[in-house]
Amino acid sequence: MKILLVFAHPEPRSLNGALRNVAIQELEAQGHEVRVSDLYAERWKSEVDRADFPSLAPDARFVPVAASKKEFEANALTEDVRAEIEKLLWADALILQFPLWWFAMPAILKGWVDRVFAYGFAYGVGEHSDKRWGDRYGEGTLAGKRAMLIVTAGGWEEHYTARGVNGPIDDLLFPINHGILYYPGYEVLPSFVAYRVDRLDDAGFEATAERLRERMRTLATTPPIPYRQQNGGDYLIPSMQLRPGLNDPGAVGFMLHLDGTEVSAARETR
Ligand code: FAD
Repeated sequence: MKILLVFAHPEPRSLNGALRNVAIQELEAQGHEVRVSDLYAERWKSEVDRADFPSLAPDARFVPVAASKKEFEANALTEDVRAEIEKLLWADALILQFPLWWFAMPAILKGWVDRVFAYGFAYGVGEHSDKRWGDRYGEGTLAGKRAMLIVTAGGWEEHYTARGVNGPIDDLLFPINHGILYYPGYEVLPSFVAYRVDRLDDAGFEATAERLRERMRTLATTPPIPYRQQNGGDYLIPSMQLRPGLNDPGAVGFMLHLDGTEVSAARETR
């Protein structure tokens, strides 16, 4: 497979840097081809602004969605963004790797998504009718490709469980996994999360690295999180509400968007 790893840590000698090297080494040992977007090293511009849309007239009101649509259609987005889009089209699998900062991705990575996931490419794709609501949530430009997160967290694993004070990790990562990756079509694999990493010793590092190697070995075969397809009949159009009667009785919140029959299977792979 061809794999794009988008790396968001400012220090190459960090734990994240070491885990990135472990992942790349294992993927290459498996015969995969790997490309890396190292956002800090490349001094990625994270903010969306007028400079992203060269054809926007200086006195025109800047409407980011409209500007994105126009520039993507004209293949006139800035060179850095076009290069990332090409890498995404090239790759069979996308890995986003980052330390959890304030229960989210670092701003530089969010800015990569904001700028690269353009209108007409990652959203605003497909027709709207009484049967379909665009190509999204399981369909779209990136359908058929796989994606997963590699995340490190200072907090303990228990703090991220169903009753843990931080909230369940699957809920915290849902806006990324479902809202950013599943939306343009990726099959999203369960995230790799390393907890309590701030004082990780050598033994802890080796155990984490081995767990990561195993996930890299199974990148092509790990079952994806069974999110429901938007246009597969589970949602009412145009309200986009899950049809009454679907999913386990008692399921609430983000869980509703998993196919109930396969919830346990997805959990077991973590
Ligand atoms: P590093 O600091 O580089 O290393 C961590 C430990 O790994 C060090 O002790 C290092 O010695 C050790 N280590 C062992 N082997 C190696 C090796 N081979 N190479 C390198 N290091 C090794 N945590 C949360 O849980 N939730 C949050 O919301 C959250 N918010 C944060 C917000 C900010 C702004 C910051 C700065 C931190 C936050 N944290 C949070 C903690 C954060 O998630 C961790 O600090 C981060 O995941 C650690 O990853 P790192 O790569 O920076 O580790």
